[in-house]
Amino acid sequence: MSLGRLFVISGASGVGKSTVLAKVMQTHGNLRFSVSATTRLPREGEQEAVNYYFVSKEKFAEMIRNDEFLEYDNHMESFYGTPKGQLEEKLKTGDVLLDIDPNGAFQVRKARPDAVLIFIAPPSMEELERRLRGRGDTGEDQIRVRLDRMKWEMEQSKKYDYIVVNDRVDACADEILNIILNKK
Ligand code: 5GP
Repeated sequence: MSLGRLFVISGASGVGKSTVLAKVMQTHGNLRFSVSATTRLPREGEQEAVNYYFVSKEKFAEMIRNDEFLEYDNHMESFYGTPKGQLEEKLKTGDVLLDIDPNGAFQVRKARPDAVLIFIAPPSMEELERRLRGRGDTGEDQIRVRLDRMKWEMEQSKKYDYIVVNDRVDACADEILNIILNKK
């Protein structure tokens, strides 16, 4: 028996999604975060079982074979998936937030039609490009790949229940909180 509802949030890197989500989690105080498994390497400051379960490609393939994922996808040469076990456990105690890409979001919607899909959009593609370049750690090829990906994601956003523009972090987080709280 699960009590909670699923809130799926998507938005490309560069829209400030992680800052917004941290703010949402902190302000709500009683929302659980679904921890995905990934084959990519941890980034600076990321913690095992907090940000992701960091697993080998072999382990990920084994998890697929054992039907352990609610959904999974291949993104920028790494695999990402939502392990069902931890999700079901968290749903027993309340609402859960998933930070996954559009392919994953639509798989979740199929499995759980009551899931609420929220897309965080940049104020404009120009602004996204400016933010990506502003980071300074991304090469031109990578910027192109990410912009193409973002164009595709913006197309997909039309199928989401809500689109929230991240103009200012606080306003964006508030809008997402309103969606979550009003859905009770
Ligand atoms: P990052 O490597 O920057 O943490 O994440 C890259 C992309 O993978 C983001 O769009 C993120 O939402 C997506 N992602 C993270 N976890 C999952 C997951 O479990 N399933 C799917 N389908 N996408 C995920």
